[in-house]
Amino acid sequence: MGLKMKYGFERKFRDQVLRCSSCGFCQAVCPIFGLTFRPALNARGKMLVLQEVMDGDAELNQELIETLFQCTTCANCSTNCPSGVSVPDIIKEARKDMVAAGVGHPAFIGMNEALKMRHNIYGEEEPEDFERERNRKADYVYFIGCVGSFRENETTMETLDLLDRLKVDYTLIDEVCCSGVLEDVGYRINRELINRNIEMILSTGAGKVITGCPYCFRTFNDDRFYKGLRDAGVKVLHISQFLKDFDFEVISDKVVTYHDPCDLGRHCGIYDEPRETITKIAPNFVEMSHTRADALCCGAGGGVRGAYPANSIAMARRRLDEVEQIGAQVVLTECNSCLHNLANAKLRSQKFSIYTTAQFINMLMMTEIDKE
Ligand code: SF4
Ligand code: SF4
Repeated sequence: MGLKMKYGFERKFRDQVLRCSSCGFCQAVCPIFGLTFRPALNARGKMLVLQEVMDGDAELNQELIETLFQCTTCANCSTNCPSGVSVPDIIKEARKDMVAAGVGHPAFIGMNEALKMRHNIYGEEEPEDFERERNRKADYVYFIGCVGSFRENETTMETLDLLDRLKVDYTLIDEVCCSGVLEDVGYRINRELINRNIEMILSTGAGKVITGCPYCFRTFNDDRFYKGLRDAGVKVLHISQFLKDFDFEVISDKVVTYHDPCDLGRHCGIYDEPRETITKIAPNFVEMSHTRADALCCGAGGGVRGAYPANSIAMARRRLDEVEQIGAQVVLTECNSCLHNLANAKLRSQKFSIYTTAQFINMLMMTEIDKE
């Protein structure tokens, strides 16, 4: 008789959970452990608990909410795991089992319903119109994402200004949440929202989508329900890939560093393109002590910003300590969510500025024009 499996995470990932040898390599790189020093919260601790669940010695109940929801899905553990355990995927699946059992994290209860009604993760009514035409025929669609639409509007405005300066033929659309984030917090992805995005993108005739958000970029490129977009031949680029071929003819004399977003770096392997652009415009570029695949997480991902805000900010502060250590005057990143969390965590005594790369380039170009 086959093994009876109660939970979806077992059916999908039983072998992987058992593959964890408790070597502990993940402990040193886990931002949650780095903050809490609680072994139960690093990847090894999470895998041990899930092994107990599979053995029938524990249930996915209320008591495990903290263990399984305190994870930013940063993938620093899986990147360093000698046994190839895909921790973030396992955690996301176990969260779905918890929500199905009625024990999701209180911060996200009803989030799937709210997304159905309001079409964005903040449950807000209308995004700013960014003074741009929408839904017109164009070569490119610029897909903003929820954080850029509702929290980092100024950054989005500057990014759009930059695209205008570069004479890019783009249009905005009446976008809805890409819905990838639902899977982070225990829900299934929303097919209706996906189909709406696909339909709107295809109706513009654009061959390429540029997105400012690494998470939307991942979802469009990886999620099976966005296959319709890919099958129609539409290529999805992150803005860092799009900008790397331009020559901006502006230079900053500031000491600049770069924060790798987990979703763009460890999850998508995009490390070089942002650096190619930044080193063109900022010859005084310096790396932080943890960089590329080794970069510290900003603490915002995996729903941690919503569920454990104090820890989320504390993780961002650890990252900002590294900015201070190297004496950078500007820290650039390629993710509105990282930008948002890092900016919220910045202390008044910290004098450096935080921008996205596109925003910074636009500011430099604007200053050049003012000089003329
Ligand atoms: S590095 Fe991998 S195998 Fe080692 S304890 Fe962590 S999850 Fe388990
Ligand atoms: S994904 Fe990141 S936060 Fe989650 S267990 Fe792994 S290292 Fe820790």
